[in-house]
Formats: sequence, structure tokens, C-alpha cells
Amino acid sequence: MTIQALAEKTSAFISAQYALKGIPPAQLRMEASLTRELNRLFKNAMDTLVRQVREGGIPADRTVLISKMQTIQAQVCDIVFGRVKSAGRQGIKTGVRDLTRAGLPAKELTLSSVAVDAMRQRVLIASADTMKRMMGKVEQTLAEVVKQGLTYDQAAKVIEKDFINMRTYELRRLARTEIHGAMSSLRHDTIRDAGVFEQWITCEDADVRDSHVELHGQITRAGDPFSNGLRYPGDSSGDPAEFINCRCSSVPFIMPPDKMAPAGMSYFYESDLVDRPKAELKVLKGGKA
Ligand SMILES: [Zn+2]
Repeated sequence: MTIQALAEKTSAFISAQYALKGIPPAQLRMEASLTRELNRLFKNAMDTLVRQVREGGIPADRTVLISKMQTIQAQVCDIVFGRVKSAGRQGIKTGVRDLTRAGLPAKELTLSSVAVDAMRQRVLIASADTMKRMMGKVEQTLAEVVKQGLTYDQAAKVIEKDFINMRTYELRRLARTEIHGAMSSLRHDTIRDAGVFEQWITCEDADVRDSHVELHGQITRAGDPFSNGLRYPGDSSGDPAEFINCRCSSVPFIMPPDKMAPAGMSYFYESDLVDRPKAELKVLKGGKA
């Protein structure tokens, strides 16, 4: 392929990426399906607790009620881990697809045991954190209900409503963060292994957090950190405020042949690109001006 053709194909590809402006449908499907499955599991556990309160009130030792809910922690972890592995594989696929569309050779990574172990660790921590927060809120609700001196039935109703709100928020957050993290991480590895630049893309809607609005279109040499310290959207080695609930994506950025990265900048935008010296261009074109 000539350099001109590659440049045209590249810019068409980048425009197409911007036009997508959103979350890959496969990611949304995986998030929704995991959220549903976790909700089913929690609904069962929480319904049992509410029924116990309705029938017998809140015992003096509230840990009896709470500890029963804790028994689902291992199941939560297993469910999330299974889905996260599929999301990782999907991340490799989208990375390969994007590189191929850009006319670059792409290698399909296999999920190494190191990568799988890292995923398992991440899921263990995230599930434990979520359970801890949810149990804390359950404890808080039970304590408040006791203080209010409600009847068994009234108490059960208050608790039920509180649990549904918490469940909806917490489980969506867990599913979104973990599916997104796994997909982004493996897509990033695929892009990085191709030795190209990586560009941060947001959904460009009102829900994008302020700190990510300015990241839209930012470019790094894949593997280097973006301006927020993350190497890719969803990078869990960074600040949780930067990756929890994130929906941003990244795509390979192919340098136009007549441009180059600005010297001394580890992250930059397309508007920062500098013209490649003419002498170098001649070499690139095989000496023909
Ligand atoms: Zn984001």
C-alpha cells in the first residue's frame, strides 16, 4: 500500500472511530447481562433477609442477618471472573479488528496464565470491596430502622426499598468497571504489541466525567501513561476516581506519514503533531519527490 493510500485509509478509519462515539455494543451487552445475573443472586439473599425481618423483626445481634448475606461473596467472585475472562477475549478481538481496519498487521494474543491471574486478583478485590460497601449499607439501614421503632412490616418495607436502590447502583458499578477494565486492558495490550500510538476516546456525552472530557483525542505511544496517569481507559493501577464506572475507549492512532509526534511530549493531541522534515519524507517515499 502506498503511503498516501495508507494515510487516507487511516484518516477514514479515525473518522469512523469518532463517528462511533460510544461504547462497543458487545461491552454493553456483557455489562447488562452480568448486572442481571448479580441482581438475581443478591435479590435472593436480600429477599430472605427482608422476609426474616417481616416475620421476626430485627434481632439484637444484627450480625446474624448480615453474615448470611456474606455467604454469597464467593459466588459473586466466580460469576464476575467468568464474565471478565470473556470480556478480555473480546478486548483482544476489538484490538485486532481496529488494527486490521487501519491496515496494520495485528497479532491475536492468547490470554496468558499471568493475565488470567491478574484478572482473578482484580476481581477478588473489586468483589470484596463491593460486598464490604453493601454490607456496611445494610448494617446502616438496619441500625436506622431499629432507631425509628417501626413495626416488623414497616421495617421490612423500608429495608426492601433501600436494598433495591443500593443493589441497582452497586452491581451496575461493579459490572461496568470490571467488564470495561478487562476489555480495555486486553485491547490496550493488543495495540501496544503492534508498536503504534494509542488514542483516548470518550462517549462525548453529558455523563463523561470532567477529567475525561479533556482526554478525548489525547494520544500516547501505547504503553505510556495519558495525562491522568492511566495507560488506558479503565487501567486499575491508577486512581480509582479515574477508572470506576468509566466508559471511555481507546483506538490505535496511526501517525500520518507527513507528521510526527512533538518532541519531548509524552502525551499530545492531533493538533500538536509537527511536520516531518521534507528530507525524511523523500526517504519514506523511496527517494521519489
Ligand atoms: Zn471515562
